[in-house]
Amino acid sequence: MSRRMLIAGNWKMNKTPQETEAFINELLPTLPSDPGADVLIIPPFTSLDRAGRLLSHAALALGAQDLHFEPSGAFTGAVSGAMLAACGCRYVLVGHSERRHIFGDSDADLSRKLNAALDAGLHPILCLGETLEERTRGEMEAVVTRQLTSVCEALRRAGDTGVSYAYEPVWAIGTGETAAPEQAQEASRFVRTWIGETLAPSAAEAARILYGGSVKPGNACELLSPPDIDGALIGGASLRPDAFAEIIAAAQTGD
Ligand code: PEP
Repeated sequence: MSRRMLIAGNWKMNKTPQETEAFINELLPTLPSDPGADVLIIPPFTSLDRAGRLLSHAALALGAQDLHFEPSGAFTGAVSGAMLAACGCRYVLVGHSERRHIFGDSDADLSRKLNAALDAGLHPILCLGETLEERTRGEMEAVVTRQLTSVCEALRRAGDTGVSYAYEPVWAIGTGETAAPEQAQEASRFVRTWIGETLAPSAAEAARILYGGSVKPGNACELLSPPDIDGALIGGASLRPDAFAEIIAAAQTGD
């Protein structure tokens, strides 16, 4: 099966609604009507409504960086899946390493968040990956297995194409360090094998597994080439329309 690449720009806590509009107005004219990959921007919550209005007919999709696991209620500061969908979001990140390590999202929270995303009709991108200490101790497979196993029931519920995955070694996020293409391939292959053995062979075939960790125009081609890598989750380099457009173009050649 050939899987269509997914190129996703995670803006983290960057860009006001005005800056979001300027980015979209600069990027959109440079994109071909079919960029050859699914392309997604993931701005902060405060920019989603404005981005959703600008993107309603465009070949650029919208995602959110997080969601709360309850649909509504007394959760000061939180945003529900239905609120994100109403802004035009189709995707949502679940378990980004900054959520796990800075905000303390637990594996149990993430299972509930995956279910909440599915309830709201959103496509979750489940982020996985080990810290430097864990890699040094040779624990990449154990960590990724724990992260997957703890959300197994939600993944089963999502069916073959209801979830995408992003392998993001924590030591490569925002550090300028990238995994070697062989390391990214090895981890993605490991995730695909787990999906095949635990969920279903058809789910393993269909799953899109992205690589994330200091992807930039200069390294996108080689990081998108391995057979088990189906796209990229990009932080810093997705903040500039020209750099993001170059990575999108690399997805076509790396396909
Ligand atoms: C990310 O935020 O998911 C990420 C991979 O960031 P960066 O590209 O800046 O390393």
